Amino acid sequence: MRFATIPTKLGPFLCPEPLANQSTSLFPISKLTELPYPPLQSDFNFDPDLQAFFTGRLLLLDEIPFPLQTIQAHYLHGFIQYEKGITKEEHGLSCRRCGNQDKELFATFSCYRCKEECAYCRNCIMMGRISQCTPLIRWAGPATGFHVEEPILRWDGQLSELQSSASERVYELIGHAGEILVWAVCGSGKTEILFAGIEKALREGLRVCLATPRTDVVMELFPRFEQAFPNTQVEALYGGHSSMDRASPLVLSTTHQLFRFEKAFDVMIVDEVDAFPYSYDKTLQFAVEKACKDEAARIYLSATPSEDLLARVRRKELDVIHISKRFHGYPLPVPEFTWCGNWKKGLKKGYVPKVLTEWVKRKLDSGRQCFLFVPTVKVLNDVYECLKSDSVDFVHAEDPERKEKVNRFRKGEITMLITTTILERGVTVPEIDVAVFGADHEVFTSNAFVQISGRVGRSIEDPYGEVTYFHFGKTKAMASAKKTIEQHNSRSSREIDK
Ligand SMILES: [Zn+2]
Ligand SMILES: [Zn+2]
Repeated sequence: MRFATIPTKLGPFLCPEPLANQSTSLFPISKLTELPYPPLQSDFNFDPDLQAFFTGRLLLLDEIPFPLQTIQAHYLHGFIQYEKGITKEEHGLSCRRCGNQDKELFATFSCYRCKEECAYCRNCIMMGRISQCTPLIRWAGPATGFHVEEPILRWDGQLSELQSSASERVYELIGHAGEILVWAVCGSGKTEILFAGIEKALREGLRVCLATPRTDVVMELFPRFEQAFPNTQVEALYGGHSSMDRASPLVLSTTHQLFRFEKAFDVMIVDEVDAFPYSYDKTLQFAVEKACKDEAARIYLSATPSEDLLARVRRKELDVIHISKRFHGYPLPVPEFTWCGNWKKGLKKGYVPKVLTEWVKRKLDSGRQCFLFVPTVKVLNDVYECLKSDSVDFVHAEDPERKEKVNRFRKGEITMLITTTILERGVTVPEIDVAVFGADHEVFTSNAFVQISGRVGRSIEDPYGEVTYFHFGKTKAMASAKKTIEQHNSRSSREIDK
C-alpha cells in the first residue's frame, strides 16, 4: 500500500492509494519520518460497529471487514491511526506487531504494493505478511464498553481451602496493576480459582484475556468457560480460528494470536507460562505485554515455573501463591527409580530390558491404563516394535492420527500408549500409571518429569498411581523432580496440620 498526502485545514494528512487523486505522488508509509495523526473530532458521527470490532486490536488493512472509505473517514477525524508495520531503528529493523528485531528474521522482496525492495518480518508471517510498506491500523477513538448481564457466573462447585485462599488473592488483584504467580501442582484445579476474579472483572466492565501457548488448552477451556459464564460472549482464538466479530470481554487465546492486539486487556492471565514455545520465544512475551493495558492485572499460572520466574519471586519482584495440594487433597505420587541397564544398546539389538517387559505385562494383565514416555521418535519406534499388541499404540508430534489416538485412549480403547513428551501436559485420564523409559536422556528435564508425574492420580476415585523412571544412571533432573514433588507434599501436609 502506498499513500499520498492531502492538504487539510489541520495540516497534511495521509490518503491511501486507492482513494488518492491519480496525479498526486505516492510513497510507502516507511518513507515518512513522522506520521500525521489528525486530532480527535468528538462531534464526528463514528460507526459503532467499527468501534466494537476494532477496540484493542492492531490490524492489517486486509483484516478489517469495513470499506476503505469508512476507515479513511475515521482516520481523518482522529478515530483511527495508521502506523508503520516495520520501523527502522538505530540497530536495524523492528516489527511493530511481534517485536522482532532479529536481522535473520527479516527478508526482502520486490514488492508489488510499493514497487520497491521491501523488507518483511518472517517471525509473524503466519499472521499475514507485514512489510515496510504495510500500515498497521488501530482504533484511537473512545473504547467500546462491555456489559454482561447477571448472573455472570454460573458455577456451583466447591473450592478446597487452598483454592479459596488463592481465589481470594486473584480476586483482590482484579482492577489493579500488579502481577502474581499462581504456582499450582498438576491437578490442583487452577481454572476454578480464576472464576470469582473473572466474574468481578466482567461485572466492572473490564476486559479479560486468558492466554496460553497451547491450542489444545484453548479448545479444552472454551466449553468450560462458556458454561461458567453463560451470558458472556466468550471468544476463542487459535491458529485457523480467529474470529473477526465484535470485541468480546472474555477472550481465550493462544499467545500467537495476541499479535493482533494492543492495549486491549485489563486482566491478563497466562496459563502454562513455562510451556514451549512461550518460555523461549521473546516475541510471544512481547505479544502478551503489548496486549495488556498499562494498568493491567497480570496473573501467571504454572505447575512448573521457569527459573526466571522463580528468581523474580526470590527477589520479591513477583508475588506467589502456592497451591501445593491437589483438589482432592491426596499427595502427588512420588516417582520410583528403576535401573534398567544399557537400554540404548538393547534397542540396537532389538530388545527392551526385562524389567520393562515385566512392567508392561503387569499393566496389561491388570487392564489398568498407562502412558509409557520415551525420549525420541526413534526410540518410540524401536520400543513399539518390541511391545506391540492389540492393547498398545503409540503417538508423537508428527503423527497424523495423533488426535484420534488420544481420543481412543481417553475412551479406554487403548490400554497402553507409548508417547514422546508431547503428552507431558494436558491429557488427563482418570485411572492411570506412568513410566518413563530412558529417563536418563537429556530431553527429560526436571520440569518435564514433574509434568509427567502430574498425569497420575488426578481423580478422587483413584488418587494414587505409580510413576516409574526406567534409567541407566540417575540424572540430576530425576533427583530434582523427585525432590520438588516431595517438597510439595511436605508443604501440603504442613498446611493440613495448621
Ligand atoms: Zn513480526
Ligand atoms: Zn512494499
